[in-house]
Amino acid sequence: MKAVRPYTIKGHILCQTIKGLAYVVHFFKQKSWDKAIEFEENPRTMRLMDLLYFSYKYYFKPPQIPSHPTVLAHFQKPTTLHPDFHSQLSISLGGDLMPYEMIKPEYTTYLWDNVGADFFGSDIVFANLETPLDTKQKQSFVPEVMLSNMLFNTDEQTFSIFNGNGQFKGFDILSVANNHSLDMGRAGLLATLQNLKDKNILSIGAAASADEAEQPVIIERNGFKIGFIAYTYSLNQFEAPKDKPWLVNLLPLNLPGCDISRIKQQTETCRKAGADLVLCSIHAGNAYQTYPGKTTVDLFENIFNTCGVDVIIGGHPHNLQPWRNYQFTDPFSGKNKTGFAIYSLADFIAYDIFTWCHLCAYVKLEIGRDVNGDILMRPIVKPLIMERKNKQLQLQYAEQIYQKTELTAEEKDIKILYDACVNG
Ligand SMILES: [Zn+2]
Repeated sequence: MKAVRPYTIKGHILCQTIKGLAYVVHFFKQKSWDKAIEFEENPRTMRLMDLLYFSYKYYFKPPQIPSHPTVLAHFQKPTTLHPDFHSQLSISLGGDLMPYEMIKPEYTTYLWDNVGADFFGSDIVFANLETPLDTKQKQSFVPEVMLSNMLFNTDEQTFSIFNGNGQFKGFDILSVANNHSLDMGRAGLLATLQNLKDKNILSIGAAASADEAEQPVIIERNGFKIGFIAYTYSLNQFEAPKDKPWLVNLLPLNLPGCDISRIKQQTETCRKAGADLVLCSIHAGNAYQTYPGKTTVDLFENIFNTCGVDVIIGGHPHNLQPWRNYQFTDPFSGKNKTGFAIYSLADFIAYDIFTWCHLCAYVKLEIGRDVNGDILMRPIVKPLIMERKNKQLQLQYAEQIYQKTELTAEEKDIKILYDACVNG
């Protein structure tokens, strides 16, 4: 597996050095690191050995063996729940939007050419904005090689690239609950909320006031009301402000048995406001590995059973992870339902140096009603590869790439992860 492909000579030298160090430590760990290890992965609580293991996964080799053997039984092919119904509403769900150094106008001219029309063509378009958008502070990119504290910030130019490069209608709603929410401080988060408001983009996962935090976020379109909520497991080195606990939706989601009563409460608020479906963005899990840990699988099942959400959109692990349907009884209506979850949509608009990070997906949710007026839902997962040719980035449908007879070395390498996710 080719885990690292830096695009500058300096990046190459730095990565080779760190990979060498990671290899030495790995040697003493007697290969036990090849299996995923679950821990909170929160920079505030990381011990030295956690940090070394994280560096190993990141710079040397993402583990392909799940942390717990039962985890694999939960995944399935992208099954269609109700294949024959007439769709009346479509929702696109995208992964993490991150200001990597390559996300600049000179490298992104053709970025959306292949997938933009379908992705932004849905009635409602969603993703996770994993950076402040504080135009009063300097742009701050994710460095090519991550060695120091990373505080991100996006300017109008980079945001416009995320938002369809001016070629498409852009996002309707973005989550701002992630581990980079407070990178530009509280003022940066409030500026982000205001800037999104000015662009007519709804935001979830953070609020400018206690009153705003209590309001359900619902989009009404084509006769359907869709509720959105979002939570993050960490704010990196920052703590949630004690005087403003409502500022950002933070819960210790990577710890077993996390109390999710706030998620239930917000789902109930959406239902009372008439939401036909509730979609929940969960920014959590362990980074750079093929499968979610048992903690995340248990968390997602608990969210379905306890809160009755219909869809869980996972993000943060940087690698694509599998998806599933889940049968449960809605705690509010008592009806049997089939929910849909994807554990990680991965980096969406981003360009990390690791080849596996170039595989991501978006979900197209088709929504309709049966004769009784009950909601029908058909989730279609569309895996994508971020290709780089002649220094230009472009999103391509992975299925089309894998129909070719001749694959590049990178496409072959990514296929290991693609097969693990697509075939469960
Ligand atoms: Zn993250």
